[in-house]
Amino acid sequence: MQAALDWGVPTFNSAMATSSGGGSGSGGGGTYSYRNGATHSHKSSSKLDTHTHKPLSLNSSSNSSSKNHVKSKSLGPSSTTQRRNSTTSKDHHPSVPGRVRVAVRLRPRNAEESVADADFADCVELQPELKRLKLRKNNWDADTYAFDEVLTEFASQKRVYEVVARPVVESVLDGYNGTIMAYGQTGTGKTYTLGRLGEEDTAARGIMVRSMEDILADVSLETDSVSVSYLQLYMESIQDLLDPANDNITIVEDPRTGDVSLPGASLVEIRDQQSFVELLRLGEVHRFAANTKLNTESSRSHAILMVHVRRSIKGRDAGHSSENGNHPHSVKSLKPPVVRKGKLVVVDLAGSERIDKSGSEGHTLEEAKSINLSLSALGKCINALAENSAHVPFRDSKLTRLLRDSFGGTARTSLVITIGPSPKHRGETASTIMFGQRAMKVENMVKLKEEFDYKSLARKLDVELDKLIMEHERQQKAFEDEIERMATEAQHRLSEAERNYIDLLEKEKSKYEKDYMDSIRKLEDQLAMNQRKNEDSHIKSRAEVYSEELADLKKMLQKETLLRKAAEGEVNHLKIQVSELKMSEASRKSEILKVHKMLEEEVHQKEKLEREIAILQSQLLQLSLESDQTRHQFERDGLEKDVSSVDSLTSQVKHQQQASGNGEKPSIAKLFEQGLGLQKILSLLEAEDADVRIHAVKVVANLAAEEANQGKIVEAGGLTSLLRLLQSSQDETIHRVAAGAIANLAMNETNQELIMSQGGISLLSMTAASAEDPQTLRMVAGAIANLCGNDKLQSKLRGEGGIKALLGMVRCRHPDVHAQVARGIANFAKCESRASSLGTKSARSFLIEDGALAWIVQNANNEASSIRRHIELALCHLAQHETNARDMINGGALWELVRISRDCSREDIKTLAHRTLVSSPTFQAEMRRMRISY
Ligand code: ADP
Ligand code: MG
Repeated sequence: MQAALDWGVPTFNSAMATSSGGGSGSGGGGTYSYRNGATHSHKSSSKLDTHTHKPLSLNSSSNSSSKNHVKSKSLGPSSTTQRRNSTTSKDHHPSVPGRVRVAVRLRPRNAEESVADADFADCVELQPELKRLKLRKNNWDADTYAFDEVLTEFASQKRVYEVVARPVVESVLDGYNGTIMAYGQTGTGKTYTLGRLGEEDTAARGIMVRSMEDILADVSLETDSVSVSYLQLYMESIQDLLDPANDNITIVEDPRTGDVSLPGASLVEIRDQQSFVELLRLGEVHRFAANTKLNTESSRSHAILMVHVRRSIKGRDAGHSSENGNHPHSVKSLKPPVVRKGKLVVVDLAGSERIDKSGSEGHTLEEAKSINLSLSALGKCINALAENSAHVPFRDSKLTRLLRDSFGGTARTSLVITIGPSPKHRGETASTIMFGQRAMKVENMVKLKEEFDYKSLARKLDVELDKLIMEHERQQKAFEDEIERMATEAQHRLSEAERNYIDLLEKEKSKYEKDYMDSIRKLEDQLAMNQRKNEDSHIKSRAEVYSEELADLKKMLQKETLLRKAAEGEVNHLKIQVSELKMSEASRKSEILKVHKMLEEEVHQKEKLEREIAILQSQLLQLSLESDQTRHQFERDGLEKDVSSVDSLTSQVKHQQQASGNGEKPSIAKLFEQGLGLQKILSLLEAEDADVRIHAVKVVANLAAEEANQGKIVEAGGLTSLLRLLQSSQDETIHRVAAGAIANLAMNETNQELIMSQGGISLLSMTAASAEDPQTLRMVAGAIANLCGNDKLQSKLRGEGGIKALLGMVRCRHPDVHAQVARGIANFAKCESRASSLGTKSARSFLIEDGALAWIVQNANNEASSIRRHIELALCHLAQHETNARDMINGGALWELVRISRDCSREDIKTLAHRTLVSSPTFQAEMRRMRISY
């Protein structure tokens, strides 16, 4: 019983199939570009190393091939900015294309894995700065995949929220639909990522809790509303987690808009964070969790949280307003008010693993089927969307009906795929990664959900009008008051100045009068005194007396003039004060203008800094790419150097072992970095110490994975040593690694002959017979498969039991092994058909002679495409030769050929099958006999 989610693990090494000429299903080496969810993605795989000629090596730094494939990615401005721009610049109800964003999150090793897998490297290696993930195929080979975000085991919950969920939540607040989903094997952290309540530790809060916090912070509870439903989908029935008695909720679709709703589900209005957390806890208590072997808390059901946000938007803020929003008052109030309804859907999917592996007990067959149904339907829909199929089977399950808007619909969607580090679950991890890769190709048309609310527009306009009238009245009154105040003040000042002036004049006048009277009196006294003097002595002449009087009068006149001037000065001073008041008013205005200008400058400066940050970020990316290449170059240089003694290597190896014993990753490449010569390493293949031998063979294998090294290795006798190891060693790790190295070397035609001449087939057969680890079998099968593609070696290979050995390996049920066997058969069949068309072979196919037909027919419709494609090709090749036709009919292969010619999704194979059937008289006769109309 398997879930239909198996998209096949990448084959052993697609590069190995080169000699089979089209036998491999290598994907297109497409470029990957993504601009902020708002533009296109190429319709090709974003797996980076789909090149066909160069195998990858173990070292992350030596990934020379990736530089050819990673085209520059442009990092746009933050999605929020972009989003806001894109909504504000559109007309009514803007639709923005947005690709589903996919992040991958790695769970840290748990206690059990730390103990059990202590000696093994994680099956993935993350390069968060390049947004890439490497999935190890084996000890020295890895596939690289690009994601929108790569979250390491150290990523905090806050960061995960920011990159995965925040843009979606902001969209919902702006009136779009949004979806956040977690997909992955049970126990990899889906619920941890989405559903943690974090009551004991705020830093642990998951996406659901954080989303609600952001929503509540942004809405205003007077005008907006937030309500929540919480559901579970289990065995194709929807249950209300807020009211478990309500357990068969139906989905209703609006035929006009296509919107889905669940009118039967409880809808609880949320007004504060605490009541939301309570609600989640209640839901969790109700959630049905089937215990599984992997994680006792794990669940087989899908949990779905729906948050409906209804907001009233003022005309000024609505999406259809102009970009700057800078309207005069009168225009603003004519904008209709708008209600925006955003819906956030958070989905914690059931574990993606195959049912048999989870070991869940007590499931009926019916239950297992239903569990598979929703998840596998989701997988099928995503496949169809990724391939741009005309038909997307959304109606096949409840989950896909519910998520119709989330994939290929109008919602903004973020998917986080969760994986664990354990090499034990490599198959599941690979299938999760492939799911994520396909989801990245799904494009949505993001649509604003807003409606005009005319009734409330009228109401609001009334209120606004009244407000304006009141405001106008108030302003008019204030204006009149101000005028009056200013007039009174001016009047007041004028009369004060006048009063002062009169006072001064009065004072002067009285003083002058007093002085005048005094001087009269003095004159009279003088006169009397003069008369007396005149009478007495007649000394002073009359003229003298008059001139003295005149002088006194003059003095008095001067004093009078001075006083008048002082009064005039006072009046002037008052006038100056009035004009000064006016001036200070003007200077205050210019001050305000200055502050405005400074503010503008600040804004300008900020924008400049933001641009610089963006440039620096792109430089950082560039630098990390270059450092990868430099490191790779450095290691190559290391190959040329020679070194000290074997003893020093031995001690290095020992040292490495200790390091790995302490939980560090053993770095075989380090040995090489330290400058060991090839000869020395090869001589260590025969070392006494078993650990030294293992490390040495790993180093050789690592080197053999680089095409550039292969010539040197063979020249130095490395191939012979590797073959000898298969015989002399009993250790399966050595067998596995050596066979892998031989497989890599066997890509080259000269090496293929060398392997054959040194008894390679019987050594590989022997190794296959004793192997238990599927990975060992995969390596051996890969090596033989490569040999099968050599035209010159056909009969020798068969004579030495190569085909039998290949068929013997299908005892191991691992799909990777089967894929290699299928590839070998396809290669062999292709060479045979070439030989028969050249006339150098006329007898029955060796494959049929050696009994391969039964397995071929049995696997012709294998669900793993990597197996199926090879088998389909093999069948077409076999059928080319009329001598094989009778056996093929008897073995049931004709049916498969007919099926391939009708249903095969690869057009070239389909055409080949059709042509073959039409041109074979034997097949034609049989089809007529069976009344198959063709
Ligand atoms: P799933 O929902 O995918 O089955 P869970 O969320 O229940 O997985 O996680 C399984 C276990 O791993 C839990 O004990 C959880 O606490 C732990 N776990 C998951 N992700 C992380 C992480 N990023 N950091 C620490 N522990 C984690
Ligand atoms: Mg869970």
